[in-house]
Amino acid sequence: MRTRIIAGNWKMHKTADEAKQFTEAVLAKLPKSDKVEAVICPPALYLQSLTELTKGTDLHVSAQTMHEAKEGAFTGEVSPAMLQSIGVKHVVLGHSERREYYNETDETVNAKTKAAFEYGITPIVCVGETLEERENGSTVQIVSDQVTKAFQDVSAENAKVAVIAYEPIWAIGTGKTATAEDANEVCGAIRKHVETIYGADVANAVRIQYGGSVKPSNIEELLSMEHIDGALVGGASLEAESFLQLVEAGANA
Ligand code: 13P
Repeated sequence: MRTRIIAGNWKMHKTADEAKQFTEAVLAKLPKSDKVEAVICPPALYLQSLTELTKGTDLHVSAQTMHEAKEGAFTGEVSPAMLQSIGVKHVVLGHSERREYYNETDETVNAKTKAAFEYGITPIVCVGETLEERENGSTVQIVSDQVTKAFQDVSAENAKVAVIAYEPIWAIGTGKTATAEDANEVCGAIRKHVETIYGADVANAVRIQYGGSVKPSNIEELLSMEHIDGALVGGASLEAESFLQLVEAGANA
């Protein structure tokens, strides 16, 4: 049985006080369950304070992106060594917003995925198709290709513990959710593709999240699907109560 993973991607939201209050409110009511892993992905600025605040608890703190190099002349960037040095254990890579606005490519996602493993950080690798690609029937081809490229030269041992987030771009922040059946079909296709690369062992272990307008009212149905092991949530993860409901759903699914 795969442990579900519910991750709240805050994107560029919350002041320092709001970040602290949210995290304290979540810690006060976080369900104790070995069926679900709860993760928050705050802006880089708060990673250290929130890693300290959540130390020894079941709430994990993830970065939203990182550079692939250990260090260097890359103004504004954060390295895997830096994340490791403050105890960050997860990083979101290849989010469609990074791909669209910050020149993230399949090649940089691959370099970052390998770097994450090198520093003991679990990557949450995002893949997903545009509306046009969905409408012309190339969804599975697109996401499979993104997976192949992201995991180029990644060992089976590492791939096994990776998280893949399937986020159809047309469903992000739009209120349009893929139907649970459609989301499951693509997550299943991703799992099959992982099997062709690494074999059944890795395919059965790798966790695949769905993301795109997930909220408390639709998460149960999504999590009831065979291939959906969790959710990567934007808007509905910003309020503590709503995030807690999502985690509860993960614990009870
Ligand atoms: P929304 O849940 O706001 O649609 O965002 C999804 C997302 O991009 C999470 O990474």
